[in-house]
Amino acid sequence: MPRSPLQFALPLADPEAFGDTIGVDHDPDVYEGIERLICLAYDGRPFPACYDEHNGSDYLLLGAFEAMDAGSSPVIAAADGVVVDTEDGNYDHCHGDAATGEVDCDGHPERANFVIVEHDGGVRSKYWHLMTDSVAVQVGDTVACGDTLGIVGSSGNSSTPHLHFQVELEGTPLDPYAGEYSQPETWWIDQGEPGDLPTSGCP
Ligand SMILES: [Zn+2]
Repeated sequence: MPRSPLQFALPLADPEAFGDTIGVDHDPDVYEGIERLICLAYDGRPFPACYDEHNGSDYLLLGAFEAMDAGSSPVIAAADGVVVDTEDGNYDHCHGDAATGEVDCDGHPERANFVIVEHDGGVRSKYWHLMTDSVAVQVGDTVACGDTLGIVGSSGNSSTPHLHFQVELEGTPLDPYAGEYSQPETWWIDQGEPGDLPTSGCP
């Protein structure tokens, strides 16, 4: 894995509004049912530090739907770039069904509101599950690190309000966290200790 041509800031304006992080799975095996909890985080931690086949990092909003309905929290660009895709207008209260374990969007299509930003070097960052009508940028907009992209919600394949932040290089997902099971050099400005949030604040 090459060193990143850029380094990311935490894509959350209000880090203290967030609790657990559920990260990228580095275990190549694919599982079914309850075994989907079998995974390997960048540093070797198991679920809930990751889950099977997860390609991004989930930052879970503390207080879940109550907090979201009370005002939620902005998602910001993790680095400078250009907006290359967005979607908005989808239902944002999708939730986990306790009986089936599946996501339930109350009869609405399971489609996310999202923003995708293209950076230098063939790198893209993706921001998923935003609140309905919160997307604040358009395709072609230039964004600077720290610019607001939208608001944390629970649209699409989402069981609780959170941001799914995914990094891709030439279309292939990669984990921006460095570790024994990931790449040796972090793509964050400072990724912090395992379980902690990366440093917020842009260069
Ligand atoms: Zn996710």
